[in-house]
Amino acid sequence: MPEARPDCIFCAIVAGDSPAEIVDSDDHTVTLMDINPATKGHALVIPRRHSDDLLDIGEDDLTACAIAAQRVVKRMEASLEPDGFNLINATRAAAWQTVFHFHIHVVPRYEDDPLKLPWIPRGADLDEIATIAATIREGR
Ligand code: 5GP
Ligand code: ZN
Repeated sequence: MPEARPDCIFCAIVAGDSPAEIVDSDDHTVTLMDINPATKGHALVIPRRHSDDLLDIGEDDLTACAIAAQRVVKRMEASLEPDGFNLINATRAAAWQTVFHFHIHVVPRYEDDPLKLPWIPRGADLDEIATIAATIREGR
């Protein structure tokens, strides 16, 4: 396992140097309760190995995080009985990332919770969508 980043709060939690409410762990991941929850049960799946974000994380750690997220969702389904779930990742500050150690938010959802869709659907411009799709396919 590479060195923990000295200035990274999630590395400190993985190392046991900072407290956290851990609800799941395996060889590659730890899942802890978010200290500032959006809803009842809001948790964060993190890799034990430091990665900055979705562009930085390796496929093995990403796979392990995805599997852990599903495991936690199933555990919450049985224990908290929410009405649904969102999995959210923020990559870079422009996308709301504030802790620069990769994490997947597991947000249990409730019919009466206050969360709102974080985007405003725009009307479809099919030509624009096709042009953007072509750009993505070409990998530019
Ligand atoms: P981001 O904004 O990077 O997508 O999410 C970071 C999350 O980490 C936030 O929801 C924030 O509440 C949570 N967080 C920040 N510092 C700590 C901490 O020290 N402990 C825990 N458990 N959560 C933290
Ligand atoms: Zn870290």
